[in-house]
This record gives sequence, structure tokens and C-alpha cells, in this order.
Amino acid sequence: MTNSLTKAVKTICGYCGTGCGLILEVENNQIIKIRGDKEAPVNKGQTCVKGAFAYKYVHAKERLTEPLIRKNGELQSSTWEEALQFIATKLSGVKSKWGPDAISMFACARTTNESNYVTQKFMRTVIGSNNIDGCNRT
Ligand code: SF4
Repeated sequence: MTNSLTKAVKTICGYCGTGCGLILEVENNQIIKIRGDKEAPVNKGQTCVKGAFAYKYVHAKERLTEPLIRKNGELQSSTWEEALQFIATKLSGVKSKWGPDAISMFACARTTNESNYVTQKFMRTVIGSNNIDGCNRT
């Protein structure tokens, strides 16, 4: 049941590469329901069970909202700048010591084509490795 406080937000489902159009019903900044977008050519208002019901994680208290870096055996909050610098330093160290083929990266079937494109581009041009795979093979 929706009321006048409910806002409809159009989006694309990110669970798989099909890219179904969804309408999120949002109330008090919380998703309360998801339905298929009848105007979306891919799904014409239909969704699978994941697209329609798997959204509770969005508001889960356990969800990470900031980067964590393990220091002295414990995960500690950090800024994105610190986390990205930490990753860059570690990857550079591995590449210098063992070469680019010591690094591999997993892309994800649940992210966008653009994100997967950037992933492979980063691996091939910055790291210098073709060691790229994706979770859709598992
Ligand atoms: S609703 Fe289901 S089929 Fe459509 S994109 Fe989401 S996961 Fe894929």
C-alpha cells in the first residue's frame, strides 16, 4: 500500500546483466517495495524474485559505509583517500617484486558494463596483466 508520501524512483536492477527496469517505492528515504517498470523494453514490468524482493540489504545496519584498513590486526575506519593510497601502494609493491602476472582481478556480473570495461582496462594498461576473470563463470 502506498500513500502520498511515497516517492517512485526509476532505476535499473544491478543483480545481473539483463538490466531490468525497476520502480522503487521509497518512503522516509527507505525502499518499501520494488515493482517492474512497464516502460522498460527489457522486462516490460516483469522482474525475477531477486529484482523484486532482494533489497533489504540496502538499509542493513551491517552494511559497510566506509573503507576499513586492518591495522595491528584490527579493522579500522579510514578515508577513501587513505584506502585507495593503501591499495595502490600494495599493488605497486607486488608488481615490483613479482611482476604484473602476480596480480589478478575479479570483475563482477552484477556491476555495469562500464565498470567491467574500466576493470579490464585498468588491469591491461596500468597493471600490465591479462589475469581478469568474473564471477559469472563460477
Ligand atoms: S530483475 Fe532479475 S532478471 Fe532482471 S536484472 Fe534483476 S536479477 Fe536480472
